[in-house]
Amino acid sequence: MTSIIWFRDDLRVADHAALLEAAGDPDGVTALYVLDETSPEARPLGGAARWWLHHSLGALRRSLAELGLPLTLRRGPAERVVPEVAREAGAQRVFWNRRYGPERDIDARLKARLRADGIDARSFAGSLLFEPWTIATGEGTAYRVYSAFWRACMREPAPARPLPAPDALAVTPTPVPSDSLEEWGLLDARWAHTLEAHCAPGEKAANDRLDEFLDERVSDYDRARDLPSLPATSGLSPHLRWGEISPRTVWWRALEAAGTGIGDGTGDEVGGFLSELGWREFAWHTLFHRGALESRGLDRRYDAFPWRSEGESAAEPAAWRKGETGFGLVDAGMRELWQTGVMHNRVRMVVASFLTKNLLVDWRVGEAWFWDTLVDADRASNPFNWQWVAGCGVDAAPYFRVFNPVTQQKKFDPDGKYVDRWASDSLLTPPIVDLAETRQRALDAYEQIRGLPRA
Ligand SMILES: Cc1cc2nc3c(=O)[nH]c(=O)nc-3n(C[C@H](O)[C@H](O)[C@H](O)COP(=O)(O)OP(=O)(O)OC[C@H]3O[C@@H](n4cnc5c(N)ncnc54)[C@H](O)[C@@H]3O)c2cc1C
Repeated sequence: MTSIIWFRDDLRVADHAALLEAAGDPDGVTALYVLDETSPEARPLGGAARWWLHHSLGALRRSLAELGLPLTLRRGPAERVVPEVAREAGAQRVFWNRRYGPERDIDARLKARLRADGIDARSFAGSLLFEPWTIATGEGTAYRVYSAFWRACMREPAPARPLPAPDALAVTPTPVPSDSLEEWGLLDARWAHTLEAHCAPGEKAANDRLDEFLDERVSDYDRARDLPSLPATSGLSPHLRWGEISPRTVWWRALEAAGTGIGDGTGDEVGGFLSELGWREFAWHTLFHRGALESRGLDRRYDAFPWRSEGESAAEPAAWRKGETGFGLVDAGMRELWQTGVMHNRVRMVVASFLTKNLLVDWRVGEAWFWDTLVDADRASNPFNWQWVAGCGVDAAPYFRVFNPVTQQKKFDPDGKYVDRWASDSLLTPPIVDLAETRQRALDAYEQIRGLPRA
């Protein structure tokens, strides 16, 4: 019997249940990655994400080579490509770790098709701490409030301990041809130019980053995590996004570092950090239960929200994208994003509020920009957080909470270090809007939908 291990958003060899299952196959394994940009459920990757993917696949290829296995790359709709490769390799088994967004429809159809062809197709847990269907309210529905969701997670059995990487893998006797990674053209010069200086994709870099965070920063996390001038947070989001490290690994290593060994993840030294992993879980829980988040607000009143049209507002989102709004914190954040492919969480909230409330621009415009420019953009966390800030998401901030970028800067960047680093010239740019006036305009707009039904 030979197996295919189909990698997706889990570009690692440790704590990889599907890989470990395939590794038990003495007759050989084919490792496969499919670049699927054409299935209707797929969302084509943004430019920064493509850059990261290129390097992450390169790193996975090296790790697999150390285990004796080549990585086969193919491009096209997964439903066509995976059975094709299974035929070419003469495989009787296909394994993968689960996805939880709209792509799971692809996986369900594919599983049925492979099984109809007599192939043992099986999926495993690997990208979340808790499978989304195991967490439900008393009425059996999805949670809408984060604190209740996380309490329910903490009542579950603790996440499983991470699995070891396989020692070695037997290569399938019928090797199948691979595309060339370089010829996929994922490396747009625009992104290569800036990201190389700031990003280190791959499983090894992910583990190094976690170690460094736990050794040097986690004890100060709760105090300093909101200060964008400091490297106070883990910086793990792109590594988690691409599955270069599993959340279970992060969970258990953090608990071990705190010396608690086992625990419920609350109230100890690393509880604040672990509950941020909880927000990631909550975003995926919401996507799993409520369907594609990037296209429509969960609060249906927002279908009728009077966003300003492109004609009315085009110059303002352009200034927002370029970091030329005249508000230091907004400009610094947008330029940090353009240069590094990430932005500090506090600043993400401020720039998102500025776009959706002060500029009254549809949150989907901002979500799409982040999708193209973030190296950690994923189909759960990105639209989930945009909806949260805009007011139409689950457990969303009340609409009248309009972040004031000037007071936010005073509070979270009091010595101006962050703004100086990224947008030292912003004081010279005249502000593109009046904050008080545009805040009032946003509140008036909200009045138009306030009384409508939510569902
Ligand atoms: C408008 C907006 C868009 C966002 N888009 C994304 C996105 O596309 N991908 C993404 O991973 N995060 C997104 N976030 C959440 C958050 O900003 C990043 O996860 C965080 O900045 C990553 O930095 P870190 O790894 O140092 O986080 P840490 O503070 O070290 O947190 C540890 C991990 O917890 C998770 N996490 C923390 N906060 C959140 C959150 N609010 N939502 C979901 N997961 C969280 C991340 O996986 C993160 O790596 C967005 C936030 C906002 C306000």
